[in-house]
Amino acid sequence: MIKEHIDQVHENIKKACAAAGRKPEEVTLISVSKTKPVAMLREAYEAGSRDFGENKVQEIMDKYPNLPADIRWHMIGHLQRNKVKYIIDKVSLIHSVDSLRLAEEISTQANRKQVCANILVEVNIAQEESKFGTSRNEALQLVEDISRLPNISVKGLMTIAPFVTNPEDNRRYFRQIRELSVDIMEKNIDNVTMSILSMGMTGDYMVAIEEGATMVRVGTGIFGERNT
Ligand SMILES: *Cc1c(COP(=O)(O)O)cnc(C)c1O
Repeated sequence: MIKEHIDQVHENIKKACAAAGRKPEEVTLISVSKTKPVAMLREAYEAGSRDFGENKVQEIMDKYPNLPADIRWHMIGHLQRNKVKYIIDKVSLIHSVDSLRLAEEISTQANRKQVCANILVEVNIAQEESKFGTSRNEALQLVEDISRLPNISVKGLMTIAPFVTNPEDNRRYFRQIRELSVDIMEKNIDNVTMSILSMGMTGDYMVAIEEGATMVRVGTGIFGERNT
C-alpha cells in the first residue's frame, strides 16, 4: 500500500511540475511519518523514500537508531530550545525556526558538535493564531539576525498553510511565500540562500508545487490517517 501511495504522489508531483514548466527533480518529497511505527517507515524506505519528516524530538530519537543511516531526517514541528541538543547531529534540516532565541541555541549546539545546522525560517503566512512561525514582516529581520550566527545556515522558508478543503484557497499564500523568498534573496545576505521552499501537504501539495515549492511534506497521502 505505502509503495502505491508513494508512486501516486510522485505521479502527481510530475503532473504539477508539467503544469508549471518545472522539472520533477526540483521537488523533494518528504514522507511525514509522525506517529507511524518503524515498520511503516521501512516500507517507505524500501519504496525509495530517503527523506522523512517528524514533528517530535522524542520520535526522531526513537526511530533514528532503528533505520538506515542514509535517511535524511527533517524536523518539521515546533522545537523547544532545551531539546535542540538531542537532534542537532541527527537531522539534515530543521524547518521550524521562528525565533532568534531558538536559532541561537541551534548555533550553540551545532558548534558544540562541530556541525553546521541547515535551517528554514517558518513563516505564519496566513497569520493564524493557532500556528507558530514568524510574520511576513519580521521574516527578513530574523533571517539577517540568524545569518550572523556561527554553525547555522538559512536555506529557505517553510510554511504551514491553513487547513482548507479547496487547495486553490491556499494558492495566494504559497505565492506570497515565494515572493517573500525572492525579496530576501535579492538582499544578498552572507551565508543565506533561498534555495528551499518547504510548503504543501497532502491536501494542497500540487498547488504548492505550481507556486514554487521545492519540498513537499506528505503524511496522510503516504501512510494513511493518523489516529491521534
Ligand atoms: C503532519 C504534518 C504534515 C503532513 O500533513 P498531512 O496532511 O498528513 O500530509 C506536514 N507538515 C507538517 C509541519 C506537519 O506537522
